[in-house]
Amino acid sequence: MIDFSLSKKQMVLQQKAREFAINEILPVSRKYDQTGEFPYDVYEKAFKQGLLNITIPSEYGGQGMGILDSCLLVEETAAADPGITTSLFCNSLGQEPIILGGNEEQKEKFLRPFTEKLQFASFATSEPGMGSDVAGISTTARVEEDELIINGRKMWITNGGVSLIISLFCRLEGTTRHKGITAVVVPTKSKGLTLGKPIPKMGHKASNTVMLRLGDVRVPIENVLGEPGKAFPLAMQTFAHTRPTIGAFACGMARGAMEYAIAYAKKRKAFETEIANFQAIQFMIAEMKMHYEAARLLTWQSAWQADQGQDNTVMASCAKAFATDYGMKTASDALQIFGGYGYTTNYLIEKLFRDAKLYQIYEGTSQVQRMIIGRYMLSKYAPVFDRVYS
Ligand SMILES: Cc1cc2nc3c(=O)[nH]c(=O)nc-3n(C[C@H](O)[C@H](O)[C@H](O)COP(=O)(O)OP(=O)(O)OC[C@H]3O[C@@H](n4cnc5c(N)ncnc54)[C@H](O)[C@@H]3O)c2cc1C
Repeated sequence: MIDFSLSKKQMVLQQKAREFAINEILPVSRKYDQTGEFPYDVYEKAFKQGLLNITIPSEYGGQGMGILDSCLLVEETAAADPGITTSLFCNSLGQEPIILGGNEEQKEKFLRPFTEKLQFASFATSEPGMGSDVAGISTTARVEEDELIINGRKMWITNGGVSLIISLFCRLEGTTRHKGITAVVVPTKSKGLTLGKPIPKMGHKASNTVMLRLGDVRVPIENVLGEPGKAFPLAMQTFAHTRPTIGAFACGMARGAMEYAIAYAKKRKAFETEIANFQAIQFMIAEMKMHYEAARLLTWQSAWQADQGQDNTVMASCAKAFATDYGMKTASDALQIFGGYGYTTNYLIEKLFRDAKLYQIYEGTSQVQRMIIGRYMLSKYAPVFDRVYS
């Protein structure tokens, strides 16, 4: 049976997120884009309204919501501001390895504090020398008695400058590639952990992004998620659970861009008529709608699979690549509809255009998603007409 209807609880969440986006995010969107300040006030309000940390299980004081719920929430907030949404969702990204790979004590210790007051969590695989190739992590860890001693650098860490903890991936000294990858919860107050300045970015300026240096950072061994050296699959499972949400980010941004373009096309005149009357403009808007709807279906399906406990790796990559690539195209076409005014900072469309680009890069680039899908198609995919082609 196929049912695309949302539950009552989901509709309430979607509406709440929509109101929040309109009333609390949109009015301050330009301000935070210009100043690059971290919008604590917005997150404080989001926390109070229950719009942060929604996937923390109820056993640890959370709301126990799913990935699809997360998608519904972020589509609304990203339609108003992708940058503010990146840091809003980053808590779920930082918490996901703990939810998936933590034991009871770790979940209680590291998840519950997020339900009690506004705090931030980060996720760190990327380094200055690598991002796509997660098996190429070079930050090392060695076990000394009951401690893990970590050395290395992490790059591009969202909310790294404001977080309480980081779910950090490193490798046991002396290991190579996939073997040896270790996931550990690192408190940001740890001695030897230093934060770089916020990295200047093209978009998502409200989101905090920093480099981290780890010089003999000592973390209790009980902070290791799962077995030391066996966390490569945990990193991949985390991405499979968070990539649908990036698809939803792109859907929200694209929806926002499309709506700005429609409103502008109805007002702007050229050749003595509204530009909305030109078929060329209508076709661009029609394509935006087609791509938004298709992207959202893929996104929802991949989120639903995760919520059912199925392996959603391939569908998550399909959703992420499709939604973000077409999201970028939608932002570009929407700006085109604004003509020269689209290229000014007078309209928010130029901000969405800058913000859209990051979706094709973080949480695995569009090329990396195609690698995952391609590898699956050439190894595990079972042809429907299996006897015809063998
Ligand atoms: C604003 C921002 C926030 C981020 N937040 C986080 C965070 O919180 N935590 C975190 O860990 N990381 C974060 N990242 C890092 C992000 O995930 C990486 O930038 C991304 O995975 C790409 O890695 P890279 O930049 O090293 O590019 P590279 O891996 O060097 O890739 C460069 C180019 O080569 C392509 N490429 C690489 N390998 C292949 C291949 N095998 N086949 C074809 N093409 C290939 C890529 O697609 C890309 O186009 C963030 C990045 C940014 C910009």
